[in-house]
Amino acid sequence: MKPTIGWQFDNSYARLPQVFYARLEPVPVDSPQLIILNRTLANELGLHFEAIPDNDIALMLSGNNLPEGAQPIAQAYAGHQFGQFTMLGDGRAILIGEHITPVGKRIDIQLKGSGQTPFSRRGDGRAALGPMLREYIISEAMHALGIPTTRSLAVTTTGETIMRETRLPGAILTRTATSHIRVGTFEYAARLGQLEQLKMLADYVIQRHYPELVQSARPYLALLNQVIERQAALIAQWMLVGFIHGVMNTDNMAISGETIDYGPCAFMDDYDPATVFSSIDHHARYSYENQPLAAHWNLARFAESLLPLLDSQQSEAVTLAEEAIHAFPEKFQANWLKGMRQKLGLFNEENQDIELITDLLSWMKVNRVDYTMFLRTLTQNHLTDAKLIQNSQFMSWYGRWQDRLGRQEQSKDNALNLMKSYNPAIIPRNHRVEDVLVAAGNGDFFLLHQLLAAISDPYTDNPAFSHYTTPAPDSERIYQTFCGT
Ligand code: AMP
Ligand code: MG
Repeated sequence: MKPTIGWQFDNSYARLPQVFYARLEPVPVDSPQLIILNRTLANELGLHFEAIPDNDIALMLSGNNLPEGAQPIAQAYAGHQFGQFTMLGDGRAILIGEHITPVGKRIDIQLKGSGQTPFSRRGDGRAALGPMLREYIISEAMHALGIPTTRSLAVTTTGETIMRETRLPGAILTRTATSHIRVGTFEYAARLGQLEQLKMLADYVIQRHYPELVQSARPYLALLNQVIERQAALIAQWMLVGFIHGVMNTDNMAISGETIDYGPCAFMDDYDPATVFSSIDHHARYSYENQPLAAHWNLARFAESLLPLLDSQQSEAVTLAEEAIHAFPEKFQANWLKGMRQKLGLFNEENQDIELITDLLSWMKVNRVDYTMFLRTLTQNHLTDAKLIQNSQFMSWYGRWQDRLGRQEQSKDNALNLMKSYNPAIIPRNHRVEDVLVAAGNGDFFLLHQLLAAISDPYTDNPAFSHYTTPAPDSERIYQTFCGT
């Protein structure tokens, strides 16, 4: 009998009109090798890879031998990239299908780096090992932090070399997502100029991601509002953990509200709102502090795409869209403020909280304080850092904060516990990620497994992982990250 992994494909996207995708097989690779498999995620998905040897897993997840029921397609989409509109599509990824998990969840299974597609333009359709491991690490870290994200199931190397600035080992990432439908998918559908096709996409998305909206009086307006809600919550979560996405183009904003497409992303060390890591973000469009603005701008592009569905009268449609879009900053701010209160152990609300928070952040900025480590330090019962205790400006803030904690019903212990569950001890710091990628390039995956173990439990103080809690010494600081396409 053939061993069964447990794939249950039901490929609903491939039943949409042909304009939304191209059918094609992944381009076979020379000699696939499994580098890492996410067994925890596989279990959640009801996939039993232990039924087959690693070689067969590598053949399957490199696209050389797709599982039964797979129906490979490259998705079409458009995107505003750094403000400019472009027709895009999966240039180096193939959606092999939608797997239905044992609890009935529908999950996209995508191979990234799987070869050229009709949307590749001049690209080779391939990906390098470093960036695929980077996506694996950061997406799994985001998940462990409790932030909605696509996940990473596996990385295989291809046995082929790809040309970038240097020759690099080729690799394929198996990515999972509740879907890969983006703001850019709607921009694409809108540019087709056929109301019927746009409506089919919107109805499909409502069914798949927001089924509760089917009954709504204005389902497309409700869709717009829900996507805005989820993005407001998502971007607030990024800001609260100091995450910088780096390429917030509209093709990299998922309609599901999951973080998607990890390129030159990184976590901020010193608190500085102007931080940019991406080597391609020359005008700091996607800096840390600009992320809510970028999201707002992207959502306006989403609203524009939906206009023909919002109302048959164009002026009424525009009014509805504007009203929805204008609500974003307030929604973002509410999410962020709620999160900052949790980070500071505040259960109730006082008007002056915003001042307490911004005063702390200003002090952190001026004094170049490590964002993550400092906030984690505050979760300890007593201040032990002599430098902090001697800093009168900080101590004056600290006194205000202690008074504020004293004015709520909950005990200090409760406040500290709340703080511990919102201020991570461990994030995938840039220099640690870089160490992993260098070692991996030399065929050594020990550090990869160490880092993955550390980031899987970010809110626990674990002495075994204390070296992951501290910032890089100045000599190892990384100021720039590369897209690696
Ligand atoms: P990204 O910056 O990763 O979001 O990619 C932007 C667009 O470029 C997407 O349409 C990708 O599929 C495409 N792309 C990125 N790298 C390659 C590559 N090596 N070959 C072909 N297309 C690519
Ligand atoms: Mg992308």
